[in-house]
Amino acid sequence: MDAPIVFFGLGQMGGRMAQRLLNAGLNLEVYDPAPACLQALLDQGAQPFTQVGEHHHIIISMLPHDQAVHDLYMGATGLLQQLAAGTLVIDCSTISPELSRQLHLEAKNFGLDFLDAPVSGGVTGAAAGTLSFLCGGSASVVTLAQPVLSHMGQNIMHAGPAGAGSVAKLCNNMLLAIHMLGTCEALNLGVSQGLDPALLSTIMQKSSGRNWSLEVYNPWPGVMPQAPASQNYRGGFQSQLMLKDLTLAHQSAKAMQVSTPLGSLAQQLYAQHVSEGHEHEDFSGILQLIRSMDPLP
Ligand code: NAD
Repeated sequence: MDAPIVFFGLGQMGGRMAQRLLNAGLNLEVYDPAPACLQALLDQGAQPFTQVGEHHHIIISMLPHDQAVHDLYMGATGLLQQLAAGTLVIDCSTISPELSRQLHLEAKNFGLDFLDAPVSGGVTGAAAGTLSFLCGGSASVVTLAQPVLSHMGQNIMHAGPAGAGSVAKLCNNMLLAIHMLGTCEALNLGVSQGLDPALLSTIMQKSSGRNWSLEVYNPWPGVMPQAPASQNYRGGFQSQLMLKDLTLAHQSAKAMQVSTPLGSLAQQLYAQHVSEGHEHEDFSGILQLIRSMDPLP
């Protein structure tokens, strides 16, 4: 049997991505501190990861935030220094470009091949193996990673050197938050005047307001049975993770002295939504905040 791939982080995204690797017949070792997430993959035939060995040549991580990625890889007990030289390490988490660059440097010191490869496409893309991977690192490492990434995604794009994948991901998610908010506002305005949200969605999908939130992730409950909006905003992409991404985008903009007025407004709105107890709900649930802002008749 081939050397096992180790997969860290089996949540909404990682669980589905790891499942794709198992479906492709790959030998997989997995770890997640949440017992239910871990068990779900063990039940599908993955082996539990216990410790690093010479036989581990590919590591993939899909973790919630900078702190988790830093804790896994860096420091005295970090994974990077335990891995054999030549190991390919692919971090798919959405994290700051600064930490991605730090990881590249540290990995290089240990003779490892590192890629920042955050993804786009949501849980549906993860389940279907149609994710886009936004890669930062050297072209040769992207080529090396291509076979394993192709089991989980359709578009494997090289954004540039170390950290460029993370930069691209933050730009994308800032735009995602903005068009999700715009989609919520437009639907709410139409429905307030008696339009059917499903019909209005179809009309805008075939018009110039067309966007990903409308097409595959409609925020209005009941319009798309498979979307998180129709599951009480359960599953999907947590609002607290969107707030994290907007905060990282804001920090980057500040550091580069670039103005992002809509990104800043989106950050404020998601911060309010999260502070009102919706942190674990899917980010399309921001519709509730928009509707709660309507002045009372
Ligand atoms: P999630 O919270 O569902 O999953 C994260 C998992 O990581 C959890 O199960 C947690 O227990 C685990 N974890 C934390 N520390 C760990 C460690 N040291 N080792 C192993 N596992 C650990 O989050 P998610 O929605 O799967 O998102 C994961 C990443 O993907 C985030 O960076 C997010 O921003 C990004 N992302 C999410 C989506 C989406 O639609 N959910 C889409 C694109 C990108």
